[in-house]
This record gives sequence, structure tokens and C-alpha cells, in this order.
Amino acid sequence: MYDSDNIFAKILRGEMDCEKIYEDDDVLAFKDKFPDAPVHVLVVPKGEYVSFDDFSAKAGAEVIGKFFEKVAKIARDELGLMENGYRIVSNIGDHGCQFVPHFHVHILGGAKLGGGAAKIGK
Ligand code: 5GP
Repeated sequence: MYDSDNIFAKILRGEMDCEKIYEDDDVLAFKDKFPDAPVHVLVVPKGEYVSFDDFSAKAGAEVIGKFFEKVAKIARDELGLMENGYRIVSNIGDHGCQFVPHFHVHILGGAKLGGGAAKIGK
């Protein structure tokens, strides 16, 4: 069940501020309030999807494809991260440590990140 009181739903409705990086009819990208890297941007679809799993199950191939094309374009063109590279992450559910239940992709870069994808319990 999608909870329309979540923080990103409030940002999408304009009820909470954000530092916007990019917006079009389908997606909004904004700076993470508590960054884990020098560049830390969140990309969210405007549709109501709880998580990557929900998005994958409901959005359809065209919407999913366009969304990830935009994530790459934001990293490349808006953030200039392709010269040195970057990381994308999407946390899902409890074990994934998902805090906000509106599907989002983290773009992390601007410095050499720790190796590996994650460490248990960190
Ligand atoms: P999750 O753990 O759900 O994948 O990540 C949620 C992200 O949202 C975290 O990185 C956290 O720092 C960020 N965040 C939490 N509250 C706010 C907020 O009010 N504004 C913005 N811009 N980011 C937030």
C-alpha cells in the first residue's frame, strides 16, 4: 500500500522544500538532505510506487526504461559525473534499509566511494 504521507510525496506535492536538480512531467531529482557523498541526488518518479519492486511490477517496460534513461542523463548532463564515474543505489524494504516508501534511486559521486555494494550491519 502506498502511503501518500511519505516525505517524497510531500516534496512532489510542493508541501515540503527540496533543492531541485531536474524536473519534467515524469520525474523529479533533488539533493539528499543528509548526503553520503559530495554529490548525492535522489531521482523519484512522479507516479505512486512504494519501491523498486513495486515500480518493476506495475510501471511497465516503457516507463521503467525512460526512468532509468533519465537517471543516466541527470548523472551525465546535470551533475557531470561521467568523467570520473558514480554509483546508483535503490534500497528496498527492511533489509535494504529503505527509509522513505516512495521508489527512488540514489545517485552518489563526486569522490571515490567505498568499494563493494554494501556491508552487513553498516
Ligand atoms: P532510503 O533509505 O529510503 O533509500 O533513502 C532516503 C533518503 O532520503 C536518505 O538518504 C535521506 O538522507 C533522505 N532524506 C530524508 N529526509 C529527507 C528530506 O526531508 N529531504 C531530502 N531532500 N532528503 C531526505
